[in-house]
Amino acid sequence: MTDLKLFNSLTRSLEVFESVHANEARVYSCGPTVYNYPHIGNMRAYVFADTLGRVLSYKGYKLTHVINITDVGHLTDDADAGEDKMEKMAAEKAQSIWDIARHYTEAYWADVKALNIRQPAKWSIATDYVPQMIEFAKSIADKHCYELDSGLYFDTSTVARYGALARAQTDEGEGRIEAVEGKRHAADFAIWRKTPTGENRQMEWDSPWGRGAPGWHLECSVMSGDLLGFPFDIHTGGIDHREIHHPNEIAQNQARTCSDHSGARFWMHNNFLVERTGKMSKSAGEFLRVQLLIDKGFHPLAYRLMCLQAHYRSELEFSWDGLQAAFTRLKRMVMAVAPVKEAVSASEVTDQRLTELFARFDAAVSDDLNTAIALTALEEAIALKKIDLGQKLLAIAQMDAVLGLDLLKVKRADLRVRPKSAVISEAEIETALAARKEARAAKDFAKSDAIRDDLIAKGVEVMDGDPLGWDWKIEV
Ligand code: AMP
Ligand code: ZN
Repeated sequence: MTDLKLFNSLTRSLEVFESVHANEARVYSCGPTVYNYPHIGNMRAYVFADTLGRVLSYKGYKLTHVINITDVGHLTDDADAGEDKMEKMAAEKAQSIWDIARHYTEAYWADVKALNIRQPAKWSIATDYVPQMIEFAKSIADKHCYELDSGLYFDTSTVARYGALARAQTDEGEGRIEAVEGKRHAADFAIWRKTPTGENRQMEWDSPWGRGAPGWHLECSVMSGDLLGFPFDIHTGGIDHREIHHPNEIAQNQARTCSDHSGARFWMHNNFLVERTGKMSKSAGEFLRVQLLIDKGFHPLAYRLMCLQAHYRSELEFSWDGLQAAFTRLKRMVMAVAPVKEAVSASEVTDQRLTELFARFDAAVSDDLNTAIALTALEEAIALKKIDLGQKLLAIAQMDAVLGLDLLKVKRADLRVRPKSAVISEAEIETALAARKEARAAKDFAKSDAIRDDLIAKGVEVMDGDPLGWDWKIEV
């Protein structure tokens, strides 16, 4: 197998992955803030983290993956003066934060399942770690923090090369200006936010700095360090985290470990899914979430495939046409795999054509997860003719274990377009089509046309002679 090379945002270069602990890979991914449904852009971050995990498993590492759930601390803007996203949503909906958190965490987990993202070793919930966060803050407070009326702040000048990850001092970095009065430096950030007098917060805890809530960055330092041990192998997140959240985590980790070490060997970032109009937002226009794709009749794995077709470090523009194309590609794969599923798997891939494709597949995923090329190797393996089916089955299984398209489980019927807006059931369509077939056999074309017209009126397109073998489709 080829050496695994990954792009490390710390050095902005490809580096050969060598694990901290022999044969083990420990990965931490910044999870969602559960104040709303995740949009499909958020889910791109987890498809990426999952693909990374799958590649590490395929390379023989025992994977320990932790994804956190942020149910406290994440503010509406990056300046520490914003409102807590969870508190704000709870107030708007007049519900308890805990109910909001539970509802949206479950919705996120449903998307995780729909996209065939593997379960991590642990989902760490931020509010379960508040005592540990207070301990962490206590351990760095004297040397690295200062107190203001509004809370405890991290002094970014107390660590070496603060913001190096963001390249904050260069044209590349975004830099930022802080809104909180009294801060020593613009980039200083809240470790603990005191509840302002006269304000009611649903989530607050006692601390040496008064009653309040932890700053958002603290949770990830605490949970990654506690669950994976510093230094661990890889920390992931969306590219936006490279600018503020991760530099702040790194500063905390340096303070905690009394070293210059960032806490993780690799910091990896996926680029954004964007809409033509610009960056995706949970509040703009039609809310692009996985359930919307399903309601419109797409199989969620078509979206996973769409993500895999692009490199994770490239921006990916979402369009319905693009999703449709990915869906058709998925259908072709699923159909081509169907006859192979019946075979008895070989125990080893020995066919030379397959081993060559495997070499290409391995080189691709080892090259900073080049899933676009890996997909073509898989497709060529699926298309091979005059080949032992047991060999083919094993090759497909091994490649798909990395790409996660679930090709050996998904059935053709699962990919049937089933929009929520449909006014006719599948059983009714099948009955009508059977009646149409009978009418045609009896050369009663008036009747067969009438049946077809009735189906069209109900939004069903009859697809005689469709190359993919679909008999009908409901218009979305
Ligand atoms: P949040 O719930 O806002 O904390 O975001 C969850 C994850 O999604 C983070 O890793 C973000 O960096 C990532 N993310 C946010 N928006 C996008 C997007 N449009 N495309 C890809 N990843 C995103
Ligand atoms: Zn985080």
